Amino acid sequence: MSLNFGRAQLAIPGPSVIPDRVQAAMHRPSPNIYEGELIDLTETLYPDLKTVGRTTGDVAIYIANGHGAWEAALRNVLVPGDKVLVLCTGRFARNWGLMGDSFGLEAEFLEFGMQGDVDPNQLEDVLRADSSGSIKAVLTVQTDTASSVINDIAALRQAITNAGHDALFMVDCIASLGCDRFEMDDWGVDIMVTGSQKGLMTPAGLAFVYFNDKGAEARGRAKPGQYWDWVPRTRGEIFYQKFAGTAPTHHLYALREALDILVHEEGVEAAWARHKTIAHAVWDAIDAWGTSGVMRHNIADRTKRSFAVSAISTPGDEASKLRHWCESEAGVTLGISLGFAEPGQPEWDRHFRIGHMGHQNVLMTMGVLGAVDTALKAQDIAHGDGALAAAASTLARHPV
Ligand SMILES: *Cc1c(COP(=O)(O)O)cnc(C)c1O
Repeated sequence: MSLNFGRAQLAIPGPSVIPDRVQAAMHRPSPNIYEGELIDLTETLYPDLKTVGRTTGDVAIYIANGHGAWEAALRNVLVPGDKVLVLCTGRFARNWGLMGDSFGLEAEFLEFGMQGDVDPNQLEDVLRADSSGSIKAVLTVQTDTASSVINDIAALRQAITNAGHDALFMVDCIASLGCDRFEMDDWGVDIMVTGSQKGLMTPAGLAFVYFNDKGAEARGRAKPGQYWDWVPRTRGEIFYQKFAGTAPTHHLYALREALDILVHEEGVEAAWARHKTIAHAVWDAIDAWGTSGVMRHNIADRTKRSFAVSAISTPGDEASKLRHWCESEAGVTLGISLGFAEPGQPEWDRHFRIGHMGHQNVLMTMGVLGAVDTALKAQDIAHGDGALAAAASTLARHPV
């Protein structure tokens, strides 16, 4: 006998929940890919993508996931033998660096662990020591989706400037775009990568590489190969070249609808404010559960947490128990542990994540927290009271 009936919710940090309207926009016959409305619709996407990235630079669209955005960005501005400095927090920046390594870049890793954010002073020191300018690019993520830490991108730019270093500044906003404040131009980011399936509320399969003039200049010395080359994708006269082949037809309709929601109806700044309130509600619930019992947010300092995702630690295997119960009995899928341990190791079962990115409201937030609260009771896991009341009080104060 189970209560699990009704609509399920995916509460992992990507892919995120797809709005019904975005799904409905894809439910249509295949369009002509050579002329007509798809071409016109696609042209309308670029200015809105730039609005979300807060830039007047360029954006190339690829049929790919986030890993495709990583590869596209690296291949357009770097050549084998180039050194890249990778600022590792959690899991994702390291993997970006390793990808570059796999095609001949020389990746140097600066490690800040599963609880830390990047220290701008250390970055500045490393760059000052590189007086010959051998480091061609600095790679980092804004939100690390494994640890849920957020890096201070403006402060990292300042560190590069202070060091008087000329490296390209490349930032992964795959988990953060549309959720955490990001200002590509004001913060001096040269290249930014993101994907469709997190804050942009669209199915996985579109990747975006943003670049400014400095990025465009760096493209001149690289040989990205025909498929990854961002020049025809951004400057090409022929629509077919924008995607190096058939356009991702239905994804483009989906993205149009999602950008209507994010840019034209809600507004990017309102979306950031909504994410901030929802994140605080989730954190207040975690704190309440943790008052007796030892559940805690992975990042102690609230100012260093992303508004898109929360990684939560438990003393024993409670995290996995909660996850399994929520999925099988409550219709909520929580995020797995990532980066702390490999599956099968005891540490694997001590972390879970809640994705609160993109298409989220009070109902969905309270639903996920209510499911976790119920799971704690069903599984007899020690926890403090008042988590749902704390979350509701915070949501009621919006904007926090
Ligand atoms: C999800 C994610 C990726 C990887 O994206 P895929 O679409 O799974 O390839 C990379 N970086 C960050 C920060 C992410 O959150």
